[in-house]
Amino acid sequence: MTQYLFDYEIEKTDGMARAGSFSTPHGVIQTPVFAPVGTQATVKSVTPAQLLEIGASLVLANTYHLYLRPGQNLVAEMGGLHNFMNWKRPILTDSGGFQVFSLADNRKIDEDGVDFKSHIDGSLHRFTPEKSIQIQESLGADIIMAFDECAEPHERDYSIDALNRTHRWLERCVRSKQRPDQALFGIVQGGIFPDLRKQSAEFIASQDLPGSAIGGLSVGESKTEMHAMIEVVNQVLPADKPRYLMGVGSPEDLINGIWRGVDIFDCVLPTRLARHHAAFTRTGRINLANAANASDKSPIDESCLCYACQNFSRAYIRHLILAKEMLAATLVSIHNLYFLLALTRQARQAILETRYDAFAQDFLLRWHENASNDQNNIKDQ
Ligand SMILES: [Zn+2]
Repeated sequence: MTQYLFDYEIEKTDGMARAGSFSTPHGVIQTPVFAPVGTQATVKSVTPAQLLEIGASLVLANTYHLYLRPGQNLVAEMGGLHNFMNWKRPILTDSGGFQVFSLADNRKIDEDGVDFKSHIDGSLHRFTPEKSIQIQESLGADIIMAFDECAEPHERDYSIDALNRTHRWLERCVRSKQRPDQALFGIVQGGIFPDLRKQSAEFIASQDLPGSAIGGLSVGESKTEMHAMIEVVNQVLPADKPRYLMGVGSPEDLINGIWRGVDIFDCVLPTRLARHHAAFTRTGRINLANAANASDKSPIDESCLCYACQNFSRAYIRHLILAKEMLAATLVSIHNLYFLLALTRQARQAILETRYDAFAQDFLLRWHENASNDQNNIKDQ
């Protein structure tokens, strides 16, 4: 076995917050970390060279989308996802479960798996735990996810069914996995119910996998509920394995998640917002299309060291937006991604220096100066 490939070394803890290093076949991921999302094997409007420049270490790709197009066999024929998209650092693939369950009317669940209709051409397909692992083995990411069922978080009966099925499916994923150079993470479910979350975390912990994930959050529950669930789960999940909070990645969610012991995050938010002209700043989100930026010579954020902020004014970026130039999305995406990556690097430094509480409080105080930040629960792929 080459399980040693996925050693997780905790360098420092500060309260529940942790700074660590997770080893993968494509390099070490320093945590806490934010993973940009490359749904279709590309982080929208940003090149791999630009991702390297802003310091991305881990990128996420979506199994559901790549299975439908171009197909995992083509990706395998092209040398796997790392070669196909020319990203030589670590990659994580999701299981396809979240997308399939998001199809609502176009899917049917049974004990063995899920039938669903393609959003592209309406064709019929079936995912099972074994199929999801097989696709992810063809894609070849460093970190792969168990096939899980994400229930509506407030429905207790459904949450119990989904949780039990997710556990049975995890055992099937473990049994069907063949490649030793991929780390399989199990996923905790259980909606907004502390007892279910605890039960699920205990089961995931019992599987002794190289890492754990927390699923089914940021899907309609309140921030208070989300924080409570993270706390319950992280008291049970193994402390010596990385913990991944799936699909969560607004600046304040990163800060609050790290505070409660989360190590890995991903979210489409920074690139999605960028395509809607919204940018993160230290004092909250701004809309660059606003007339107030028309002749503003300052960068998006005075304190930011990204390529967009070091070279371009708000006035220029607003001009690109109004002229519908593609460079607008690229520059704002680079900025928003850099903002989150820099934030996790600063958080890591604060943990190493045992001053995370003060760092987090200071960030949240300034961030909430702008009330519009609370409207950032955008979540889809
Ligand atoms: Zn910037």
